[in-house]
Amino acid sequence: MSKLESIPLSYNTLIIGGGIVGAGIFRDLSLQGLNCLVVDKKDFSSQTSQSSSKMLHGGIRYLENMDFGLVFEALHEKNLWLKIAPHLCYEMNFYMPVFKDSLRPKWMLKIGLFLYDLLSGFQNSPHKMVSKSDTMKFIPGIKESGLKGSGMYYDAIVDDLKLTLEVIYDGLKNKNCHALNYVEYVKHETLCDNQIKVTLKDNITGISRDVFCQDLVFATGPFTDHVLKDEYELKWKDHILPSKGSHIWIKKERLPLKSAMVLTPNDGRVIFVIPQKDHVLVGTTEVNANEDFFDIKASQNELEYLIANLNNYFPHSKFTLEDIVNSFAGIRPLVKEDSDSNLGKTAREHKYFQVKPNLHIIIGGKYTTFRVMASDVAKAICLRQQRNYNDGLSSMPLRQKSIVDSFKEIHINDEIIKSIVEKEHVRKIEDVSRRINRPEFTLSDSQKKLIETLLSN
Ligand SMILES: Cc1cc2nc3c(=O)[nH]c(=O)nc-3n(C[C@H](O)[C@H](O)[C@H](O)COP(=O)(O)OP(=O)(O)OC[C@H]3O[C@@H](n4cnc5c(N)ncnc54)[C@H](O)[C@@H]3O)c2cc1C
Repeated sequence: MSKLESIPLSYNTLIIGGGIVGAGIFRDLSLQGLNCLVVDKKDFSSQTSQSSSKMLHGGIRYLENMDFGLVFEALHEKNLWLKIAPHLCYEMNFYMPVFKDSLRPKWMLKIGLFLYDLLSGFQNSPHKMVSKSDTMKFIPGIKESGLKGSGMYYDAIVDDLKLTLEVIYDGLKNKNCHALNYVEYVKHETLCDNQIKVTLKDNITGISRDVFCQDLVFATGPFTDHVLKDEYELKWKDHILPSKGSHIWIKKERLPLKSAMVLTPNDGRVIFVIPQKDHVLVGTTEVNANEDFFDIKASQNELEYLIANLNNYFPHSKFTLEDIVNSFAGIRPLVKEDSDSNLGKTAREHKYFQVKPNLHIIIGGKYTTFRVMASDVAKAICLRQQRNYNDGLSSMPLRQKSIVDSFKEIHINDEIIKSIVEKEHVRKIEDVSRRINRPEFTLSDSQKKLIETLLSN
């Protein structure tokens, strides 16, 4: 693992932010043969990119906003990743039940699902409309009163945390590229030869260092306004409309679903209920965020909101807060649109700013479209540096898997922990839990001691 004090003095491109967007840019440039460095103030994929609803999807509800371009692009990406990273994502069917008083009646759903499959170029497994009795069979326990039936369509489930990590590991296959976690961007200065001097600080050792680059990229997601607020020279105005979303995990035995479902409460929100191995993921909320965005947690109100909605759809199950085995929250990096305060209706497109020829900022977008976002930036950098850009490289499969498989049953022993510490850029004890990534997993005291010993060597 590289260290801030021992990496080279200069890189072609330096990327700030090791969420999925920064990881994607790093990988794309590395595949183009450029030497680059990606840094993150925290662990890689420890913020928004591990807090998503864990779906690669076109975003069926964006059809209501006529965001056909975004849905088309995202469906293409979803279907690509299903092919090239089958160990990290899989197809799942989703039932969207319709009730007498639903905001979206059955005919509207039918048109929407047809459009959804059409925009995928019919690469999606086909949707179908489902009768009331079949809906009750496929979603055991669902409220019968007012139920009219459902629409069923396909999207994909992804291990968001590990995809980001594996995208970084893939970029590291180019030996001139490096990735540093817990290394923070402090400031930059453009020198007279147009090189950029960037000051970085290692938040574990306290060491600071200057690194030089030809191009500098900010891929800091919802943190971007905060990161750039003191960069007066850039005249950056706030662009992020921070929207917090929380999820809960409940035990599958309390909600034994085989397929995912979409709840559409009458407040206009959409809540996904997604069974995974032993747990069911329920989310999300959508509220204005005013707190410190790092490591945010779900609020009591959000937990109660999700439980209340589950009880509305499954009145006999009588869920309580006690059913929650774990929860997490993240900030959607939505891009501000003037006078638009309705978070649910804000479009999810990304925005790319080339604020100076060699200074790039990318915000917004969705996890699903990260490869497209990365390609916009990588292409601009290659063009500016008069290099060829090869479009096909980023659609190649990833070359280094995580030690712990995403969806397979595995017993975590000391050997596995040693391999994770050795090969997966672990700098703190909690980084190991993150790389194991199971809703109820906690390290034992002896495992923590082992990691501590390994890290101190
Ligand atoms: C609740 C919720 C549900 C979602 N569900 C989905 C979904 O199902 N499907 C989908 O496609 N999309 C989904 N999204 C959107 C998706 O998660 C985000 O678009 C994506 O993860 C953003 O990635 P990012 O790399 O831009 O941001 P992040 O993952 O937040 O990465 C930015 C990084 O910048 C780092 N950073 C900040 N400041 C500094 C600094 N000074 N120096 C160095 N590093 C710094 C941070 O530590 C962070 O790791 C969801 C989002 C939320 C919040």
